[in-house]
Amino acid sequence: MVLDVDGNIKGSAHTSTPAEHGGDAMVAACRSVADLATERSGLAPRIAGVGAAGVIDSRGVVLAASDSFTGWEGYPLGEKLRASLNMPVSVGNDVAAFVLGEQRFGAGRGIENFFGIALGTGVGGGLVLNSTLHTGEHGAAAEIGHIPGFGDLLCTCGRSGHLETIAAGRSIASLYTQATGITASAKEVAGLARGGDEVAARLFADAGKGLARAALMISGILDISALIIGGGVAHSWDLLQPAMDSTLRRTPPISGNPVKVLRSGLGADAVAVGASQFADELL
Ligand SMILES: [Zn+2]
Repeated sequence: MVLDVDGNIKGSAHTSTPAEHGGDAMVAACRSVADLATERSGLAPRIAGVGAAGVIDSRGVVLAASDSFTGWEGYPLGEKLRASLNMPVSVGNDVAAFVLGEQRFGAGRGIENFFGIALGTGVGGGLVLNSTLHTGEHGAAAEIGHIPGFGDLLCTCGRSGHLETIAAGRSIASLYTQATGITASAKEVAGLARGGDEVAARLFADAGKGLARAALMISGILDISALIIGGGVAHSWDLLQPAMDSTLRRTPPISGNPVKVLRSGLGADAVAVGASQFADELL
């Protein structure tokens, strides 16, 4: 995606993520979408920001990643991207990019304290306190997908009962298959729920309830009242919201201030728009 200095999108392009083919394939895919977006924008970008999955250090090396990425851990992503795109590149975590995008241009504009949750294949989180992204002592702050207390299913991280086991797209799809024997993506399960499939509707209701409980924990610990939810699963807002709202109404925070759950303002563009904020440090 190519943006001007005010964050307006001037050109964009998409491709699927070749995560199973390793880092070099990912960089090549990045290069081809960057070329296409540049051509469409009619501009000549000078710096780039990239939001990538995993824990990324300040030099752009991937320190840790989930097992759905082949050869990603230890990959010198920043260095490879700088060589491939032939410009200064700043790399950060994709969920951090989502949160920064929402803060600057989306639903978080004007909100000093909020928690962002990205509901994609997995569940990621990011915390903005006093208008600053809080990354924690080990860069792992706001890992809301991997807190326990949400049942007893096995999580992708190897532990069990994490929020991700009921609220991630991958979980919704696999729970549906387990219950019905029918293979369907989370998006397809959402379509089935809208068509009256009770199992599908219950899975989204469970996810909504889980998200509301997570929001209450966050609000109880931090006394913040805004939560912004984005990612692919948030497209099924109509299916998540009723259960979220009723759970939040039933058990309001001790402060008496209701938790406000907002839908991402940037939708599918949030990570790319937010990653441009990483590039600001290169100016
Ligand atoms: Zn987990």
